[in-house]
Amino acid sequence: MQKTIPWFFSMHGGHSKEFCDHAESNIEDIILRAIELNMPVYGFSEHAPRKHDAYLYPEEIELQKTPQDLINSFYTYCDTLDKLQEKYASQITLLKGLEIEVVPPDDYVSFNQQLIKEGRIEYVVGSVHWVNNYMTDFSSETFYKAVEAHHGLENLIIAYYQTLKEMLISIKPDIVAHFDLITCFLKPEEVPEYSSKLVKVIEETLEEVKKNNCILELNTSGLRKPIQRIFPDTFIIQKSAELEIPFTFADDSHNIQQVGYQLEKARKLLLNQGITHIIRLNKTQQKIIREKISLI
Ligand SMILES: [Zn+2]
Ligand SMILES: [Zn+2]
Repeated sequence: MQKTIPWFFSMHGGHSKEFCDHAESNIEDIILRAIELNMPVYGFSEHAPRKHDAYLYPEEIELQKTPQDLINSFYTYCDTLDKLQEKYASQITLLKGLEIEVVPPDDYVSFNQQLIKEGRIEYVVGSVHWVNNYMTDFSSETFYKAVEAHHGLENLIIAYYQTLKEMLISIKPDIVAHFDLITCFLKPEEVPEYSSKLVKVIEETLEEVKKNNCILELNTSGLRKPIQRIFPDTFIIQKSAELEIPFTFADDSHNIQQVGYQLEKARKLLLNQGITHIIRLNKTQQKIIREKISLI
């Protein structure tokens, strides 16, 4: 049997067809793929349900889903994963996470806290996909609508980081998802230079990552998007390293082909920046622990 590689894991992904309408594989097939790849731990972080029609994803609208359907599906996700954790316990450790949303802006905190508690969620991945009620990462079209509504790209990016910063303070997620996701629909040459305003808001956001004891993920899904790189970029990785913020890995898989996607590239990227260790979440006696894993 092949040996497990300690750093070959993902803490954000495992989105499955049963619980996410833009995912393509069954949850059990994703688990079997992670086992086949000899992953020691795999973290599932299904998208949180949303409680108002205004925040349904486009494919959910097409399928005429209601917020109540999403909430029901969330509880089924939790139960299903509990059973699958048991079924595959001798082969892989499966963690039950949740990728939260920051909508509705005025009461997402209590809503997410309720989901975390009632679903007995083991760890939280904090994401910002919506900025001031504009969805920013669904399509190029929705992204540019958000740019227009914010009167320009730099304003939107600043608003994105402000939303992220507020989420970090109020939710204190274990993991901060795709830190510079707001660039996902830009081609590499369209990314604006780091102005002093941008650097300031990024530094303030990273300080909250540090203060709230969060882990920053290297998310390889950016390689599948127009930006063509891992999130976050090297400037942000360097700034995070200066603050001694720990990193982890995320394949953001939505099908079996994406399980473990380009993690070797993420490892090399960190090593090239002089970072030799990452954090892996794991579980002992039903408690989530943080393990420091060498990349070498
Ligand atoms: Zn998704
Ligand atoms: Zn996400």
